[in-house]
Amino acid sequence: MKYIVVLGDGMADEPVAKLGNKTPLEYAKTPNMDRMAREGACGMLHTIPYGFEAGSDIANMAVLGYAPENYYTGRGPLEALSMGVELAPEDVAYRCNLVTVEQETMADFSAGHISSSEGKDLFAALGPEIPGVMVRAGVSYRNLLVVSGGNGSTTTPPHDIVGQGIGPYLPKGKDAELLLQCMEKSRAVFADHPVNQARSAAGKRPATQIWPWSGGHKPAFPPFEKKYGMKGGIISAVDLLNGIGRCAGMEIITVPGATGYLDTDYAAKARYALDAIQRLDFVYIHIEAPDEAGHLGSIEEKVKAIEKVDEVVGTILDGFDGVVAVLPDHPTPIRAKTHTRDPVPFVVRGKGTDTTTEYSEKAARSGGLGMKNAVDFLDFLFS
Ligand SMILES: [Zn+2]
Repeated sequence: MKYIVVLGDGMADEPVAKLGNKTPLEYAKTPNMDRMAREGACGMLHTIPYGFEAGSDIANMAVLGYAPENYYTGRGPLEALSMGVELAPEDVAYRCNLVTVEQETMADFSAGHISSSEGKDLFAALGPEIPGVMVRAGVSYRNLLVVSGGNGSTTTPPHDIVGQGIGPYLPKGKDAELLLQCMEKSRAVFADHPVNQARSAAGKRPATQIWPWSGGHKPAFPPFEKKYGMKGGIISAVDLLNGIGRCAGMEIITVPGATGYLDTDYAAKARYALDAIQRLDFVYIHIEAPDEAGHLGSIEEKVKAIEKVDEVVGTILDGFDGVVAVLPDHPTPIRAKTHTRDPVPFVVRGKGTDTTTEYSEKAARSGGLGMKNAVDFLDFLFS
C-alpha cells in the first residue's frame, strides 16, 4: 500500500460571524474533502503536546511521528538543515525574520512578505558586520542566523506580537547580548538601504530590522525509512518543513513555482506528488497558504486558500488509488491571527467509513476514527 498526506497549514479555524457563523472550512467549497468524508472517515488529532508552543515545526514533527518531547531543539536548526547549512555541535541556529518595526511596535512579522532577492541584498549588507555570527538569506522573510559557540536564548515569535510593543519581547538569556547587537546593527544597516528606499517609494513596508527566534542545536531524528519501513518524500515551499524532512532522511521534492503563498502553483504540487509516489511509499504535501491567510486575518484569502487545497486533494484522489489523508497541523483562526493548540480535524480515504458527510471541525468531532495523538497518526495510517 502507498500513502499520501495533504497538510493544509493552519487550515482549521473557529466559527466566523461574517461567514454566518461557519468556519472557513465549512464555508469554502471543498467537494473533494467532503467526498473523502462520505467515502472514508474522519477523526480529531492532538498535534501540540503539552508544554510546547503551537508551531508548525512542533505539529509537523509530531504528525510525522517524531515526538517533540524527544527530538525538538528549535525551529532554527531545522531550517538550517533545509538550507544545506551544516551545523557544528556547538552552533546555535536561529530563525531570523525580516520584520517591520514602527515606533517600537511590531508592525509586520514578514516585512510585507518581502521578496527573496530583496532579502538576499539586505543580508549581504548585514553579513560582514557581525563577528561570530553567520547570517544566510532564505525564502522571503524567513532567514537564518547562526551563533558559533552559542548557548541559546529565550525569544518570541514575531507573528505572536503583531501590533504590540517589542520591548518586553526582546531576546533574554545567554545569547541575548549578541542577538541584540545583531538587531541593532540591522537597524542601522537597513535604514537607508536601497532595497528599503525602493520599497517605501512603492508604498511597501520596509524591512526595518532582523528578528532572531527559536534557536537551538542540531537535532537527531531516527530515519523515516528505518522507523516505518517506508521510503518517504516531502513537498513544501517552506524551509522549516524541508528541514524536518531532511532530518528524517526523507526525499525533498522540489516543485518549481511553489511559493508558500496564495499564488503558489497548486497544480504542480499535486503533479509532482503523483510522480513521486511512483517511486516512494509515502508523500507528504505541505501547503502553507491557509496559515498565511490566517495570520493576515483575511477571511476571503483563507477561504480561497482552502479551496485551492481542495483542488490539490481532487487531483490526488483522481490520480492515486492508495490511502489519502487530509489535515491541518494546527488552527490559525482568523480571530486570533496566530496558531492555537486546539485539536484539528482529519479525514482519511482508505481506512474504513463512518457517518460523516463533510470535512469540517464540527463534523470530524463525531467522526468514527475518534481522537488521536499526532505522534501515533502515521502508525495508524500504515497499520
Ligand atoms: Zn503560522
